[in-house]
Amino acid sequence: MSDDNEKTLCAHVEDELQVKDPQKYITLIKPATHFCQGCGRSAAKADNLCQPQEM
Ligand SMILES: [Zn+2]
Repeated sequence: MSDDNEKTLCAHVEDELQVKDPQKYITLIKPATHFCQGCGRSAAKADNLCQPQEM
């Protein structure tokens, strides 16, 4: 998909990229250390996320 690079993070989260392709999602949100598989937010602490995944 060629338009992927122009897609905003918000649009990716709407499409649930954090669930479908977590590794790709992680590359987009680095240098955060955790991300939420539920809502796609990124954070420095797992405590701040509802379904925290360490990356
Ligand atoms: Zn969440």
